[in-house]
Amino acid sequence: MRRLGVLGWPVAHSRSPAMHNAALAELGMSDWRYQALPVPPELFAETTRALGDASFVGANVTIPHKRAALALADEASDAARAIGAANTLTFAPSGAIGAENTDAPGLLAAIGESVAGRRALVLGAGGSARAAVWALREGGAADVAVWNRTGERARSLARELGAHALERAEPSDLLVNCTAVGLAAEPDELDQLGLSRERVGDYPLVVDLVYRGSATQLIAAARAAGARALDGLDVLVAQGALSFEAWTGRPAPRETMRRAARALDPAAAGPERA
Ligand code: NAP
Repeated sequence: MRRLGVLGWPVAHSRSPAMHNAALAELGMSDWRYQALPVPPELFAETTRALGDASFVGANVTIPHKRAALALADEASDAARAIGAANTLTFAPSGAIGAENTDAPGLLAAIGESVAGRRALVLGAGGSARAAVWALREGGAADVAVWNRTGERARSLARELGAHALERAEPSDLLVNCTAVGLAAEPDELDQLGLSRERVGDYPLVVDLVYRGSATQLIAAARAAGARALDGLDVLVAQGALSFEAWTGRPAPRETMRRAARALDPAAAGPERA
């Protein structure tokens, strides 16, 4: 048996097991399994180091372990180092642990069109915002702006990754929400993002990393404004497909993964934790 999994705390609500097991079944890889690995922070390093000897080929990493995953890896990609976090670990037969970040290329893959020369606004200054800013800069965006509730974090992230911080959201070609706003449905989601329903029309392409059973206010407003809108599941599938390909060497069956991720009962699945 070759094993894959997702390390998180909590992780029970992750859609990654359904998505990856559907992909493995589609490709007839019956000796592979993908499972949730609920691991508290104090046990993360010790548990992860033991996975290679327990038939694990690789693991995704989600909240709150992405920084710790990079720290314990023996080798890391340039993307993971620049972003300061890893969402994909690979366990080599030698025992070496490799770290990759597929959140960044996954975002660009989900967008599916060139961002070169375009202006982008990233909301948030946490781990996923770092991956988004890095990806957009790598993709050749002409300008990447960052807005965050706590302005100093936006300024610091922008300085480090070659973007610039804004005091308030300004119109742009592309908007990416990398905050946790929208995980739970609230009446003032757009306010919390420094936006209004009318202002969402300023962005022809909107990506919301958050996914929940119903559309977030941002996604609903973007659709109402006629914008192209991608939700957190589009990004989850894109990053998961890249991880799958890195571990198995097989092209990921993206449509199967998308169907499996979306098929889960939204109420039972709860907020997305990639
Ligand atoms: P994080 O590092 O904890 O950062 C959270 C960000 O959200 C911070 O910028 C924080 O602002 C902001 N925030 C939280 N509550 C807010 C509020 N009420 N109003 C305004 N801003 C608020 O989290 P992360 O890892 O970047 O993840 C962010 C979201 O993306 C999560 O919902 C996660 O599930 C989702 N995500 C999805 C995928 C996917 O594949 N779909 C991948 C990664 C992450 P402050 O700095 O002011 O606290």
